[in-house]
Amino acid sequence: MKCYYCNKEAIEEAYGKAYCEEHFIKYFLGKVRSVIDKFNIRGKIAVALSGGKDSSACFHALNKFKFDLLPFHINLGIKYYSNKCQVEAEKLCNLLGYDLEVIYLEEYGIDLEKYEKPCSICGTAKRYLMNKFAYENNCKYVATGHNLSDVVTFAMNNVITGNILNFRGNKPFLEENLEYKLVAKVKPIYYLKDKECMLYAMINELPYAEEECPHAENAPTLRLKRWLHEMETEMPGMLLNMARSFWRIEEKIREEVNLNKCIKCGYASYGKICKFCKLRKKC
Ligand SMILES: [Zn+2]
Ligand SMILES: [Zn+2]
Repeated sequence: MKCYYCNKEAIEEAYGKAYCEEHFIKYFLGKVRSVIDKFNIRGKIAVALSGGKDSSACFHALNKFKFDLLPFHINLGIKYYSNKCQVEAEKLCNLLGYDLEVIYLEEYGIDLEKYEKPCSICGTAKRYLMNKFAYENNCKYVATGHNLSDVVTFAMNNVITGNILNFRGNKPFLEENLEYKLVAKVKPIYYLKDKECMLYAMINELPYAEEECPHAENAPTLRLKRWLHEMETEMPGMLLNMARSFWRIEEKIREEVNLNKCIKCGYASYGKICKFCKLRKKC
């Protein structure tokens, strides 16, 4: 198959158009640009690098747009896996000419290995530390490498488990609330699927860790993601429509949420003490 825009051989197809390498990169960056333009992203961005393909692709794309970027990595202290992730994030930063700031979860007294089901604890800790890092470093935004596949899988999982009122993370952009020390969140690769991020990382020869987190192996969400991708090949555009639907639902629900300030750390909290401070106390 030939590229829709030139005579070269196509390597990927998206929404009915075939792309060669060069035009695929343009397509990818165009999707990132659409998030930047829609939400008028201007100013310093803290970029969360997990060491995986998605955040690597996200960081590389933002760097193309000449933003003021501050890359950082949260070392989760998961044996073998975390150090490998940190090494890959460091390699990418060296390649692009940045220093990598590393936050160690261990320093906050949280040991994920102690929990039988550490995923939700890990999620709480990451969200908290990302925001804190961005806030303390005077960044206007924190950017994460959540792609379309992740967003839809996460939302569907909330639907399946009946967790609809705890619905968040469905939008490509979340406004700041500085009174509560909340920095704006942006997902620059929101419109791009897993496979597309992988392809972008491979074409640009970006370093990234190929390992999945050992706690995520065989998780039902991985099966759910595979199933969603199968459906997407039968119904191209389904993932995007689902993401937009969840985005709208979240906007309706969010209006009713009450925020407080945590009495221990001063960051935003739904109760008197935030989830992160509660976690630290338990450890
Ligand atoms: Zn082409
Ligand atoms: Zn707190």
